Amino acid sequence: MDAGFLRSNEWRREWIASLTRAVNEGIVENEEWVSGKVGFSLHGVPLEFEVTVPATPVKPQRMLPVFQQLANTFAVGAEEVVASEGQPVSCRAGCGACCRQPVPITETEVYHIAELVEGFDEPRRSEVKRRFKAAADHFNSTGWYDRFADHVRRSSNLSLEEGFPEGVRLVREYFAAGVACPFLENESCSIHPDRPVSCREYLVTSPAENCSDLSPTNIARVEFPLKPSKALQKLGSMGDFDEIGFPVLSRALELAERFPEHFDLKPGPEWLKDFFDEALKDEKPTAERSESASDHA
Ligand code: SF4
Repeated sequence: MDAGFLRSNEWRREWIASLTRAVNEGIVENEEWVSGKVGFSLHGVPLEFEVTVPATPVKPQRMLPVFQQLANTFAVGAEEVVASEGQPVSCRAGCGACCRQPVPITETEVYHIAELVEGFDEPRRSEVKRRFKAAADHFNSTGWYDRFADHVRRSSNLSLEEGFPEGVRLVREYFAAGVACPFLENESCSIHPDRPVSCREYLVTSPAENCSDLSPTNIARVEFPLKPSKALQKLGSMGDFDEIGFPVLSRALELAERFPEHFDLKPGPEWLKDFFDEALKDEKPTAERSESASDHA
């Protein structure tokens, strides 16, 4: 993905529109709001946009719609770029092959997913909880979660090349078990607007049938210039999950119960600053922000 993607006016318009939609469509709760401009440089390309976030202190879950929309916009832009290069994305509704992989989620999303499931009507709530329990029981009984946590811990002392083969082996073992994500129904995502950010970032250009074999050379993934999921991994981290590496979607309910949530409360602009500080920490430090209060309540 080159910087041309970031310079495209169409992409910028879509990005701004998507952030506005997050508020206008009411997917961000109706609280006191603050609007402001965020400006930064990504791969040397200056970007500026307006965003509206809660003015009052909130948990990071309340900020998720903003970050989900950001991920959507990057996905739309990335799809356009690879299509223009003759390599269209092959992911289609009704293909849930990747939904049998260990899907990495963030601490914030663990609690968001737990809240989401609690909000389902019966009998759906009980059925989805049953699927979560079956999946978590399976991977706890095979020791996969523990071996994965060990791998993540050991990998921090290894080079990427050294840690990669074991990571691939573990992912293939998980996939081979054929345990579908508890939200997969008729090979489609039943929580599409609420799906984790890493699901939004998983796009492939290789033939869909290749996704049934997870060898690293078999699958061509679309690269993103900035991955909101990476920044979200650190956002508001409580430190409770250090022992498990990072959360995998199939154990979200188990983790939410085992580690009662105690996130800090912060105003939206502070969460936004934390997010962009993390997202851009490998970029040249040219981030600037200006904020102006406006009440949308
Ligand atoms: S949340 Fe949806 S897209 Fe993500 S793995 Fe589950 S079914 Fe697939």
